[in-house]
Amino acid sequence: MTDVNVKLDALPGLDPNALPLEVKNLQVEFRTRNGIAHAVNGVSFDLRAGETRAILGESGCGKSVTAQAIMGILDTPPGFVTGGEILYRGVDLLKLPESERRKVRANRIAMIFQDALSALNPVFTVGFQLAELFRKHRGMSRQDAKARAIELLDLVKIPAARQRVNDYPHQFSGGMRQRVMIAMALALDPEVLIADEPTTALDVTVQAQIMALLAELQQERNMGLVLITHDMGVVADVADRISVMYAGRVIEEAGVDDIYASPAHPYTKGLLESIPRLDLKGQELSAIKGLPPALTNLPSGCAFNPRCRYAQDVCRKDPAPSLLQVSPSRTAACHFWKEVKGDE
Ligand code: SF4
Repeated sequence: MTDVNVKLDALPGLDPNALPLEVKNLQVEFRTRNGIAHAVNGVSFDLRAGETRAILGESGCGKSVTAQAIMGILDTPPGFVTGGEILYRGVDLLKLPESERRKVRANRIAMIFQDALSALNPVFTVGFQLAELFRKHRGMSRQDAKARAIELLDLVKIPAARQRVNDYPHQFSGGMRQRVMIAMALALDPEVLIADEPTTALDVTVQAQIMALLAELQQERNMGLVLITHDMGVVADVADRISVMYAGRVIEEAGVDDIYASPAHPYTKGLLESIPRLDLKGQELSAIKGLPPALTNLPSGCAFNPRCRYAQDVCRKDPAPSLLQVSPSRTAACHFWKEVKGDE
C-alpha cells in the first residue's frame, strides 16, 4: 500500500463550496475483438452532501463501469475513458496524475464492492487490514491503529469486536463480511461512498440490515452515497434521486417520489411493473420482454425500441432521443414521455 498521508487542501482548484461529486458527459468504451463497446455514453449526474443517488439498471447497462471510472479503477485496456469530466469539489479527477488520484480515492471517495470475500485479502486478519489503512494513511502507531480498527468494527455493529478483530475474512458470515467492507470504506472518513450492489449476495433480512446500517452511517457523517443497483425495491427505501441507465445512457433522472408516482420512460415503467408494490392493490406483475442490446451492436434510433411497447417509426429512424425536460427537476429520454407518464 502506498503512503498517501495527504493534505487534500493542496489539490489545485479544490473548492469546498462545489459539490462533492459531479459527473459530466462521461464516455467509456471497451475495445474488444468484436468491436468497440460504448459502455458509458454521455452519462451525467451530481451528488450533494448527505444525499443518496441511485444508479439503477440491468446488468451490462454501464452502471458499474461508471463507478469504476469515478474511482479510477477501470481495467485499461480494454476499458478507456474517452471523454467527459469527473469533478470532486470542482477538481476534474480525470486530469490528475495517478499519484493525486490515489489520494482522493483513499481519503475522499471510497467504494464498497458486491463481493466482500474477493475484495478482502484472505491471508490477513480483518484487524490487520483495517489497521494498515490507519498506519499508511494516517501514520498511526501499530497499537493506535488496532484500537481504531476495533472502534470501526464496533461502529458497523460487529459483535465482540475486540475478539473478532483477530479473525480472517472467511471466519465471518456474508453479512458480517459486508460490514467489514463498510468499515474499511469509512475508515478514512470519505465524503462520497460508492456502493456497487452492496447487498446482492445477501439474503433479504441481512440486506435490510446492511442498508439500514449504511443509511445510519451516512446520516451521521453527512456523506454522499452513490448506490449502484438493479433492485428497484432497495432504491425505494433509501434513495433521494435516481438515474436510470439503459445501454450506457441515463434515460430518466428524477426524485424517487416522482419516479414511483409516474415514470416518464417506458423502461422505468417496465421496471416498476416488475416489482410488487404495497401502494397498488390488485397489481399484476409483468417482466420487460427481450434482452438488453449488445453494446457493440446497438439498434438504430432509441436503443430501447425493440423492447418498447410505445415504440413508433420515429423511434427507429431518428437518432436516440436525448434527455428532455419533463419538469424543472426531472428529465427523460423518450419522444413519447407525455403518453408514458399519462399526461396525454
Ligand atoms: Fe420507446 Fe420510442 Fe420512447 Fe424509445 S423513444 S423509449 S422506443 S417510445
